Amino acid sequence: MPNVKIVDLRQELANGNRSMISNKLYGEIEKNIENKKQTILFLNRRGFSSFVMCRNCGYTVKCKRCNISLTYHEHTNSLKCHYCGYEIKNINICPNCKSKNIKYFGTGTEKLEKEIQNIFPKARTIRMDIDTVTKKNSHEDILNKFKNENIDILIGTQMVVKGHHFPNVTLVGVIAADNSLNIEDYRANERTFAILTQVAGRAGREGSERKSNNTNI
Ligand SMILES: [Zn+2]
Ligand SMILES: [Zn+2]
Repeated sequence: MPNVKIVDLRQELANGNRSMISNKLYGEIEKNIENKKQTILFLNRRGFSSFVMCRNCGYTVKCKRCNISLTYHEHTNSLKCHYCGYEIKNINICPNCKSKNIKYFGTGTEKLEKEIQNIFPKARTIRMDIDTVTKKNSHEDILNKFKNENIDILIGTQMVVKGHHFPNVTLVGVIAADNSLNIEDYRANERTFAILTQVAGRAGREGSERKSNNTNI
């Protein structure tokens, strides 16, 4: 196993870092870009924000079939249910109290990619999740692109965990690694452990390349 470092984001916040990228991870990504090494950032939630809530009355938009929070997708300006695919146009006014005080909470891969592009404007990024993988742009195509086209950072959900071998990847950042502990599933702990060990294994499989692997909790 590569080196794993756990970063407590409560501590980061106390030190004034409001980003989802810890200072440690930031430094490692920067080094990797300079050294022309590749980075994988893993966040097991797609979309932009994980839920939308009215600040005035606390109303959250839920799927009418599944009763779970809808996820905001910036690209399509819509709210989607990740279980059944139900989709509605994004809201500007609270359907419950008519307030315009609508706020977005949580982070998905779409927002992470945007944040990475803001912090590292010169870095080339590619995103892999259900929203970017299409017939035209397959899972395989994205991974090949990442491998062959000098892309610095691959950002993705669980999909990035399996498949190809990337000798040039020396850093894996897991964003909000404890996220999946909160899902309602009695196997949540076990599943989280399995996926974290799998994704950590993406860093430096090439013996000598084992340098750094960053886990952000
Ligand atoms: Zn649904
Ligand atoms: Zn409201």
